[in-house]
Amino acid sequence: MKRLFVVSIHMGVHILDGKETASAIRAQIASDVAALKERKPGLGVILVGDNPASISYVKGKEKACAEAGMLSRELRLPETATHDDVVAAVESLNAAADIDGILVQLPLPAHLDESAILARIAPDKDVDGLHVQSLGSLLKGEPVFVPCTPYGVAMMLSHNGIDVAGKHVVIVGRSTLVGKSLANLLLLKGAHGDATVTVCHSSTPDLGVHTRQADVLVAAIGRPNTITADMVKPGSVVIDVGVNRVEDATRKRGYRLVGDVDYEAVSAVASAITPVPGGVGPMTITMLLKNTLAAARMHLQKKGQTD
Ligand code: NAP
Repeated sequence: MKRLFVVSIHMGVHILDGKETASAIRAQIASDVAALKERKPGLGVILVGDNPASISYVKGKEKACAEAGMLSRELRLPETATHDDVVAAVESLNAAADIDGILVQLPLPAHLDESAILARIAPDKDVDGLHVQSLGSLLKGEPVFVPCTPYGVAMMLSHNGIDVAGKHVVIVGRSTLVGKSLANLLLLKGAHGDATVTVCHSSTPDLGVHTRQADVLVAAIGRPNTITADMVKPGSVVIDVGVNRVEDATRKRGYRLVGDVDYEAVSAVASAITPVPGGVGPMTITMLLKNTLAAARMHLQKKGQTD
C-alpha cells in the first residue's frame, strides 16, 4: 500500500522530501533498465556555451544516467555556435541508433532560436517534452512525453499519497516549461489528473484571493518570498518549484538557494511542503530518466516488430 507522505515532520508540517521520493523512483528505474535485455537506454545531451549553471545541470543529468545504468552522450558546442551547428548536433543524435532521448540544455545563448531548435528533435526522442508535438499531445489528453518538471511535481504528489482528483490546485506561473504544462497534466482525466485548476500570473490582481482557495498550491514564479503565510489556506499542500539565488555572506559561494515560498512561515500553516533545495529539483532529473526509459522501450518494441 502506498505510504501517505514519504516525509519527515517539522513543526507539524510534512516535509515532502524530493531526494527520498526521487531515490525510490530511481531505484525502480535502475531495476527496469537492468531488466532490458537488448541494450541500455541512451540519452544525448547538447550543451551550448559555458554557462556554469547549465554545465552543472548537465553533469547532474549525466551522473543520474550512469547511476541508473543508462548511456549518456554529451555534444558540447561553443557559445558562438550557429543555428545550423546546433541543428546538425540534434540531427546526429536523431540518427544515432543507441540514443533514445535528446535533451538540449536551456537556456541557449541569446542569438539562438530555442523553439526552432527544439522543433528539430525527433518527436520520438523528445524526452524533455518541449517539442510542439509533445505539448500538443499533452493538451489533447494523449501525452507521450510530459515535460520533466511538471511530471516531477505530479509524481511528487502521487508518490506521497496526495491525490489531486477533485481538489482545487492553484498554480502561480504560466510558463510552458512549468505552469501551463502542469495545468494541462493535472487536468487530464485519470492518473495524475481530474483536478480543478486555476493558473495565476503576473497580471493576476490580488494573488492571495486565488491562492487562499487552493487545496494544493504550486509556486513556479522565480521570485523569492512571493508566497507568504497569509496567502495559504491552513492545511493545504504547498509545492515550491522556484529556485532563486539570494546573497548570503555566510556561504562560501556567497549565495544560497531559496524557493518562491516563505518556507518557515508557510510551514506553520500548510499540512505538507516541499523544501528548496531538495524538493522538486531531484524529481525533475528523475522524470528525465523515466521518459528516456519509456523512449527506449518504444524504440526496442518498434525494432522488435520490424526485425
Ligand atoms: P518563467 O518562464 O520566468 O515564468 C515565471 C512565471 O511566473 C510567469 O508566468 C510570470 O507571469 C509569473 N510571475 C512572475 N512574477 C509574478 C508575480 N509577482 N505574481 C504572479 N506571477 C508572477 O519561469 P519558469 O521557467 O516557469 O520557472 C519558474 C521558477 O521555477 C524559476 O525559479 C525556475 O528557476 C524554477 N524552475 C525549477 C525547476 C526545478 O527543477 N526545480 C525547473 C524549472 C524551473 P507572466 O507570464 O505574466 O510573466
